[in-house]
Amino acid sequence: MTKLYIVIPCYNEDETLDYTTEKLSEKLEQLISEKRISADSKIYYIDDGSKDKTWDKIESFHSSNKFVNGIKLSKNRGHQNALLAGLLHIKDDCDCCISIDADLQDDINTIDKMLAEFENGCEIVYGIRNDRKSDTFLKRSTAQLYYKILSFFGADIIYNHADFRLMSSNALNALDGFKEVNLFLRGIVPLLGFKTGTVEYARNERLYGKTKYNLKKMFALAIDGITSFSIKPIRMITAVGLIALLISLGMLIYSFVQWALGNTTRGWTSIVWSIWSVGGLELLAIGIIGEYISKIYLETKSRPRFIIEKTLEENKTDRQIQ
Ligand code: UDP
Ligand code: MG
Repeated sequence: MTKLYIVIPCYNEDETLDYTTEKLSEKLEQLISEKRISADSKIYYIDDGSKDKTWDKIESFHSSNKFVNGIKLSKNRGHQNALLAGLLHIKDDCDCCISIDADLQDDINTIDKMLAEFENGCEIVYGIRNDRKSDTFLKRSTAQLYYKILSFFGADIIYNHADFRLMSSNALNALDGFKEVNLFLRGIVPLLGFKTGTVEYARNERLYGKTKYNLKKMFALAIDGITSFSIKPIRMITAVGLIALLISLGMLIYSFVQWALGNTTRGWTSIVWSIWSVGGLELLAIGIIGEYISKIYLETKSRPRFIIEKTLEENKTDRQIQ
């Protein structure tokens, strides 16, 4: 039977944890009684350096509730890192895990459907929001703009999917092969490959506590998403440099003609042409340096070059990451 772990990053969530623990425990009980998951399935709370009573709560749940385990990070490292800490900590202990936010805005009844996809052989199942009614206008429009910008810059992310997803132990081990420091999970998980599935759900309002994503954190996540996946901004500099250089050629001809016709003041021709050509050359040079830097950047990530899903041979483990 499937051993399911639910991984939940928590930052100053003491107001919501009673509700969350109650609802998730009920869910696990239901799935256990339906014989869909094993009785040693767990809820893992990752305390992301909270300043309130979050960790005290997790400790008390751990002693009173057989499902609850906890991990405490030494300081606040942000949602993505907290989630990653949890995922990598449990990667070999469960058959699959589901990551979800502490406020349970994502509908936990979707877990049943995710498990069904897992039973059908999917190693990754994405939860996709099919409406954004519960979001403010600002959040909705910035989120949509963000998905558009990311796909323009070439990151392969799933539209309207946040971090509510199921991953098998196989997929988690493949994720472990990505050693980059600025990790943007939503962009990395689609790179893993494997058989994937999606389930749709409607997202609820946050019932307890306030959002922990202030504008600064949202902005940092957005910038991380772009700069972790794309060297397009550097290519754009090169392109602008080339265009400026082309204009400088045009300006050379134009100013030369003006000079020949006697329409110019002394010195104008050389100044105009130098401004355009030096500017263009500088941008182009920055772009070329950028190309080399982007190679270094891609190398230093040392992402796995491939991930083996299965092999057919004797006496070897199923999974290898190179
Ligand atoms: N979170 C975290 N560290 C942070 C900020 C947020 O672990 O620095 C967690 C938070 O406790 C929650 C999840 O990330 O479980 C998503 O945060 P929130 O629900 O506030 O975001 P929103 O739904 O408003 O986008
Ligand atoms: Mg939330």
